[in-house]
Amino acid sequence: MSEQNIIIGAPQSSIPGSRPFTCEDCGADVHLAPSGQQLRSERNLRVLCLRCGLALASESGEPFERLTPEQIEEIVEEATAPRPGIHPW
Ligand SMILES: [Zn+2]
Repeated sequence: MSEQNIIIGAPQSSIPGSRPFTCEDCGADVHLAPSGQQLRSERNLRVLCLRCGLALASESGEPFERLTPEQIEEIVEEATAPRPGIHPW
């Protein structure tokens, strides 16, 4: 394996428009926000859970890509939403 085309899903998410996916390594349930779904279909990315994604990244030694502005916006919106008791990660 030379190039890793993966995107890591959140274990759970309350970001509007999030959709459930399955980790392609271990079968865990993960969620992708709309920006993640778009990246996935544009680049044909494999969806992995955080654990499998980190394991793969440490094996390959390749750095993670930066978050896109859309992803950062969603994360900030979610993190600052006035909904106590709901944890995006
Ligand atoms: Zn996994």
